[in-house]
Amino acid sequence: MQESHLKPVAAEMPDLESILIAQKQAYLADPAPDHATRIRRLDKLHNALLDNRARIIAAVSQDFSNRAEAETELAEIMPLLDGIAYYRKRLRGLMKPQRRHAPLTLMPARIEVQYQPVGVVGIVVPWNFPIFLALSPLVGALAAGNRAMLKASEFAPASGDLLREIIAEIYSADEVTVVTGGVEVASEFTKLPFDHLVFTGSTQVGKIVMKAAAENLTPVTLELGGKSPVIIHPDFPIAEAASRIAFGKGINAGQVCVSPDYILCPRDQVNAFCSDFADTMRGAYPSLRDNGDFTAIITDRQKTRLDGYLKDATDKGAELITINPQAEDLGNTRKMPMTLVLGATDDMLVLREEIFGPILPVIPYDTIEEAIAYVNARPRPLALYYFDWDKKRADDVLARTHSGGACVNDTMSHVMADDIPFGGIGPSGMGHYHGKEGFRNFSKAKGVVRKGRINATAFVAPPWDNFMFNALRKMQALRFRRRRIGPGS
Ligand code: NAD
Repeated sequence: MQESHLKPVAAEMPDLESILIAQKQAYLADPAPDHATRIRRLDKLHNALLDNRARIIAAVSQDFSNRAEAETELAEIMPLLDGIAYYRKRLRGLMKPQRRHAPLTLMPARIEVQYQPVGVVGIVVPWNFPIFLALSPLVGALAAGNRAMLKASEFAPASGDLLREIIAEIYSADEVTVVTGGVEVASEFTKLPFDHLVFTGSTQVGKIVMKAAAENLTPVTLELGGKSPVIIHPDFPIAEAASRIAFGKGINAGQVCVSPDYILCPRDQVNAFCSDFADTMRGAYPSLRDNGDFTAIITDRQKTRLDGYLKDATDKGAELITINPQAEDLGNTRKMPMTLVLGATDDMLVLREEIFGPILPVIPYDTIEEAIAYVNARPRPLALYYFDWDKKRADDVLARTHSGGACVNDTMSHVMADDIPFGGIGPSGMGHYHGKEGFRNFSKAKGVVRKGRINATAFVAPPWDNFMFNALRKMQALRFRRRRIGPGS
């Protein structure tokens, strides 16, 4: 282990270095866990999720001061169970070395790719889905045969403590460990020489984490944020779009990395969209204050940030549509009504910053070209949502825009699809988890050339002016030089 960067730790600081050393040693003692071992590790997590379902729901709700029980089931527990089931079913196939093509110059040989565990994976967790975003990368890391250290979010302390307790019950400390603590712990954690580091959080902190990892040349997966746009085609029924978008935006009160951040709406349908969106929201959440289905904002700091966005928007001339069906006073709660913003301009925080809460600017556009250009003129988002029944047009929009993932005629559901990679692009992140891409993300794809008893090299070896090498040269000339390809051939 490289030690130069490991600073002395404060009294309350967990002994991160010792945990990592123990995990690395345990990994070296069992560097290639077999299929049964990996399945056993995944099964333990599956059982722990079932056994602790109620405790997880309670802990997450405590952190938010109210998180809808259904949201914790739907967005934390269910996708984890599905993700585990996915790898249970496919792990044997994923672990198998893959046969690859052997060039003439290497024959006879067997060429393959072996997917080898990298060792110890570090996982840094944000607060918004404090269980799912800790354990979903862990599932991929364990399936790939690794050990892992997790750093829970300081802003979801009840979930972090529960996570630490559950993980300590089912795994030895040298297999998987959860540490808790604030920014100082996070900062030391990301300086450790992991074999891979997964960071889920803001783009701003992502840059700091990548710099810290660069000191060790630790490969990173960055799951970051950004402003995920929605584009509604003029032909798509606006009430249907509003209802589907309201479902996604309502989840976790918009505190989701892939939450619809702003709507690009055909100009003549903006009013209809706002009215249909508000109707759906009122139907889903007829009251806010004591409604357990309506999730609160995680901290006062986040609420102040979001209130600031609204104030900034109104100060600069935007119109707000606040959806508070009973006109309740939410004063001493951290609940915040869903608010549509009309007339937003580029100098407003709602269009400059990731919203990450129950605020939704609706921006009119005149042509689809204009909507595409709007998206392409901004940093590449984590997700893009396009509403259109016309598949050809939808494919065209997907091909002409970049985003980490996308949904057509829906929002956010791509996160729940186990068999596709999840991750951002550029400022919204790099690397993936979920699916076979996730397995490979946490594996070293080692290219191996395997030679047998017949050593063809002996026949072509120097002195070079020999029959076999000349024959090889002629064969290559026949294959390539006389068949120039492409323009000018
Ligand atoms: P954050 O960046 O403030 O914190 C995330 C984690 O980083 C926390 O565990 C924190 O302790 C740690 N951290 C903070 N400062 C650090 C430092 N200097 N060095 C190392 N680690 C540090 O993010 P957050 O507020 O917890 O989460 C919200 C952000 O996360 C949003 O931008 C959202 O889009 C993004 N997010 C992305 C995904 C995704 O999958 N792409 C998922 C959820 C959230």
